[in-house]
Amino acid sequence: MKTLTNDLLEELVVECKPYSREGEVVKDIPGQDAVDQNKLGVCIIDMDNQIYSAGDSDMKFTLQSASKIVSLMMALDDFGKEEVFQNVGMEPMGDFYNSISHLEAHDVQKPFNPMVNAGAIAVAAMIKGKDLEEKFERVLKLLRKITHNNSLKLNEEVYESEKLKGDRNRSLAYFMKSTGAIAHDIEESLDLYFRINSIEVTTTDLAKIGVFFANGGRSLKTGEQIISTDHICTIEAIMMTSGMYNEAGKYAVEVGFPVKSGVSGCVIGSVPGRYGVGIIGPAINKKGNSTAGGELLQRISRHLDLNIFSVIRKD
Ligand code: GLN
Repeated sequence: MKTLTNDLLEELVVECKPYSREGEVVKDIPGQDAVDQNKLGVCIIDMDNQIYSAGDSDMKFTLQSASKIVSLMMALDDFGKEEVFQNVGMEPMGDFYNSISHLEAHDVQKPFNPMVNAGAIAVAAMIKGKDLEEKFERVLKLLRKITHNNSLKLNEEVYESEKLKGDRNRSLAYFMKSTGAIAHDIEESLDLYFRINSIEVTTTDLAKIGVFFANGGRSLKTGEQIISTDHICTIEAIMMTSGMYNEAGKYAVEVGFPVKSGVSGCVIGSVPGRYGVGIIGPAINKKGNSTAGGELLQRISRHLDLNIFSVIRKD
């Protein structure tokens, strides 16, 4: 087992960069283009709030689907587990993240899980607030508290593009309305979903979310229990089974701790009781996961012995 240092992370970033050639940068996200193809950055925060980073760790990008764990956290906090999972399932899907066919094929009254688009739209529809502005403000406020970053904000250009190119998500939402899976105002739920996807962050922000999870929903800085540990355990279990879509099985085996990806090429990882991990590698594969970022995660887990299942084999 190796010791976590900036030098180790730098070494691993150099080793993993070539894997970015196996993916492609999503064309739909303004501000991300071919020049980002080979970028790769990582930030890891430990339980003493010590920050380690390497590569393009200061790059700015949007949360995209990594935000699905934030929406789920708010819905659990607002309604509790029982009510949330009456509206969305908790089973892995094995399909693409924006799949529509699964909704019809299985005649589902609720989407499979909160990590795929249909599920995250259903979860966004649950977030409380008197209007769209208040709902989004509540999400931002929670994220700012968790990351201790008061400058977190919406990337307007990405948000406009999400709205403009959101027909697939609109289809999912209206299909769910037709089956009764969503009873809320569809356009407002979609708008909130688009906004949450468009929050701009760096790998440090992601690692802070990860370490907040690793600390059971308690702020490392103030000690405040912001979200109940029970809810954090629920979210981490669902990240483990569905956070990387139809590659979740591979990541459970090769990485062995909860992770959640987004099409910007980002990944949030949480090693319970140990670390928060934030990664950006904009080139993603067909399944929606960063190619270089995924490789980096696997190597970090191996070198630092982070697979949570290996604890059983320790002595
Ligand atoms: N904005 C993207 C969408 O809604 C997010 C998908 C993702 O990150 N996998 O389709």
